[in-house]
Amino acid sequence: MATCIFCKIIKGEIPSFKLFESDKTLAFLDIQPLSQGHALVIPKTHGEKLADIPDDYLTEILPVAKKLAIATGANEYNILQNNGRGAHQEVPHVHFHMIPKPNVHEGLGISWPAQ
Ligand code: IMP
Repeated sequence: MATCIFCKIIKGEIPSFKLFESDKTLAFLDIQPLSQGHALVIPKTHGEKLADIPDDYLTEILPVAKKLAIATGANEYNILQNNGRGAHQEVPHVHFHMIPKPNVHEGLGISWPAQ
């Protein structure tokens, strides 16, 4: 879609810090991260809501988000998708957030999960 900022990122018309790319999936850093490593994983086809995206564009997204989370070293993280304006979706191209949580347990010298 010509005016969609995430479609422009897919086409390389807007710069992004890419983390993963395949024929159907793109992952890049969020421009306003809620924590270090906050990433977005998107299908490389335009659709505003989940129901607009063919299943074959969705199957890779969760495995990619999982690998990105593991790569950050975070023990805890949120993976979420805001589906619709009423659900706080601001960019009308389906995207999944992967938001690492600081390893507070490690920071306190506490191992988690418990050994
Ligand atoms: P939403 O509220 O789930 O739609 O989240 C949209 C996310 O897209 C927000 O976290 C924004 O910071 C992020 N975002 C918007 N524009 C860009 C961009 O150009 N590059 C990377 N992330 C963006």
